[in-house]
Amino acid sequence: MPTSSFDYLNDELERLRDKGMYRLPTVWSGGSGPWMELDGRLLLQLSSNNYLGFAGHPEIRAAAMEAIERYGAGSGSVRTIAGTLDIHDELEKELADFKGTEAALVFQSGFTTNQGALSVLGPDDLIISDELNHASIIDGIRLTKAERAIYAHADMDQLERRLKENDGRKRAFIATDGVFSMDGDIAPLPAIVELAERYGAYVYVDDAHASGVLGRNGKGSTDHFGLHGRVHVQIGTLSKAVGVVGGYVAGADVLKRYLIHKARPFLFSTSHPPAVAAACLAAIRLLRRSQPLIDKLWSNANTFRSRLQKEGFDTGASETPIVPILIGQPDKTAEFSRELLNEGIYAQGIVYPTVAMDKGRVRCIVTAAHTPDDLTYAVERITAVGKRTGVLR
Ligand code: PMP
Repeated sequence: MPTSSFDYLNDELERLRDKGMYRLPTVWSGGSGPWMELDGRLLLQLSSNNYLGFAGHPEIRAAAMEAIERYGAGSGSVRTIAGTLDIHDELEKELADFKGTEAALVFQSGFTTNQGALSVLGPDDLIISDELNHASIIDGIRLTKAERAIYAHADMDQLERRLKENDGRKRAFIATDGVFSMDGDIAPLPAIVELAERYGAYVYVDDAHASGVLGRNGKGSTDHFGLHGRVHVQIGTLSKAVGVVGGYVAGADVLKRYLIHKARPFLFSTSHPPAVAAACLAAIRLLRRSQPLIDKLWSNANTFRSRLQKEGFDTGASETPIVPILIGQPDKTAEFSRELLNEGIYAQGIVYPTVAMDKGRVRCIVTAAHTPDDLTYAVERITAVGKRTGVLR
């Protein structure tokens, strides 16, 4: 007799627990800055993507509150029916101008941006993806009818082989993260663009962790490498350095109009609440005057990374404010993260299946809001935990 019990789900969760991979969300009770309240304790936050401190910025908060007063709490509809307010439109114009593209189209999250933009590829297309691309790129690709190929991380020889194998049969798209979210390395975009131009392919770059971080005023990896006009699709997020939530496609106007008709998360899900659209608009305007803050972000990141390396930690390929401390197996990684918590530091362990089984890491994210004292405190505590747990010998 079949039963309708959920025991089978519990079994799977127990299996995850045995492997040190069981984790429910941490519930914060206050603060958006580098010190946040958890269970009545103030902890130094080293896991947030709030790179520039924009999540708590007074100008951005004020814009959100003003929009609630004017338009209310929700937009009431999907964009194409009755859910496009003037501030949604203004935000897209601002983003296009900021990125130096013809147009931009905003989605509810970075995740749905990739899902929406990639899923419109069809059977005449080939999508070639870096093996370490974000889950939302992978899921977007899973939804397409396009032919799919993967190249080893940042391996330009393999990417070229994939393009050669195609030999012009299909329209080829190369998809890459601009900054890789688990390792903190920067994609070799100039080499990718060169190959794309040689083989007549399109370039799709997801700048989730580059938005507000890389390039002049945080315009992203295309700007960082001076590749304007040579990257066909630039994805950005509004959820990380921009401090709010959302994602966008920046590119040709025809691409925007096509996605408006075809991208299902855009078509079938209610648009951003007015407070979100207004806060994002204020944040992008603020970014234009934020180079000193971005410089501070980079100087904090470089200081933190080099101090950890000097203590003997392996920070992998990191070259951005994403600084992983490579540890290994999931249980060891979880132990390291737990010990840090006891020391007043919140830095989350990232384990399989997000990364390979033996590539567990505590991923630290440095922000512009961390003070020199915060960074010193963090390095000292991390080093103490490293010695205690045997990660440092
Ligand atoms: N792309 C990459 C590379 C990311 O790291 C993330 C963040 N998790 C996303 C997309 C999704 O962005 P969002 O959190 O705005 O949905």
